Amino acid sequence: MKIKKLFKEKNLVYSFEIFPPKEDLPLEKVFNTIEKLSELKPDYISVTYGAGGSTLNNRTSLLSSRIKNNYGIESLAHLTCIGAKRGSIDKILDELKENNVDNILALRGDIPQGGFVSGDFINSQDLISHINTKGNFGIGAACYPEGHIETKVKDLDIDILKFKEEAGADYFISQLFFDNNLFYNFLNKVKKKDIKSPIQAGIMPVINKRQIERIVSMCGATLPRKFIRILNKYQHDSIALRDAGIAYATEQIVDLITYGVEGIHLYTMNNTTIANNITENISSLIQSINSKKVI
Ligand code: FAD
Repeated sequence: MKIKKLFKEKNLVYSFEIFPPKEDLPLEKVFNTIEKLSELKPDYISVTYGAGGSTLNNRTSLLSSRIKNNYGIESLAHLTCIGAKRGSIDKILDELKENNVDNILALRGDIPQGGFVSGDFINSQDLISHINTKGNFGIGAACYPEGHIETKVKDLDIDILKFKEEAGADYFISQLFFDNNLFYNFLNKVKKKDIKSPIQAGIMPVINKRQIERIVSMCGATLPRKFIRILNKYQHDSIALRDAGIAYATEQIVDLITYGVEGIHLYTMNNTTIANNITENISSLIQSINSKKVI
């Protein structure tokens, strides 16, 4: 089933993201993660993809296929196009189709440290348009409430979102953010551009201070003062930091759901304890919101 249908059927779509383990690590652990996440009954689970043709990428197809075929949960395979040739992308599309995976998150991927590598695609719109001509996939794309880190012109990313929609993206998943007001400002701008596709809020709970600092340096997300206080206060106590992180993410999600967002995408970092606790905290809200859908 295409994920855009889920947005039609529900007021709120709730999903998880996982990543494939490094190639020298066995798959059993992530199989176990999928098993545990499936018990939480998300609407779908997405699997990340390594930009630039990582050798892990056959694991993205494998795990997406397992989620769909072993657990009956929709899966979303991430796919990046930076440096890729059309032929290699087509091979992956064929493989996903054969494995019953109906949904792709079409991404450009980060520019490698050595600079842009040439391939058959310049940006995500190229990939979205290409996927549109191949097979009958549901297509998601990324959006950036605080702007993409490479974008120098204010609000250019809102125009680009419109291009992505016109190229064939059915819905968007946002980059992580820690300040809901920034997300609400972004939604207002999106509305003014007449972008109609649903937007899911991407939420990443803190696991440790280093992880957050690394990710923030890559994507430029703003860290609110109260979030920094949590990081500083509990950085050496992993259980306390985890619990404060769960509480912070829960508070963010409660506010987002109450505001009326169309979806929450939880970056689980393959941590099932965190996914489990957060899902438990918000499950009655999800039920309440979805019980009111009139199709
Ligand atoms: P694009 O939409 O192509 O945008 C890239 C840059 O080009 C932006 O600065 C944009 O403003 C600019 N641009 C795009 N189109 C135009 C245009 N027409 N004119 C002028 N400028 C333009 N990375 C991975 O490697 N693997 C993953 O699995 C992965 N999953 C992700 C999931 C989500 C939800 C998000 C938000 C990001 C994910 N990323 C992943 C990171 C992503 O690959 C990077 O953020 C990347 O730098 C940009 O990808 P994009 O698809 O948004 O690129």
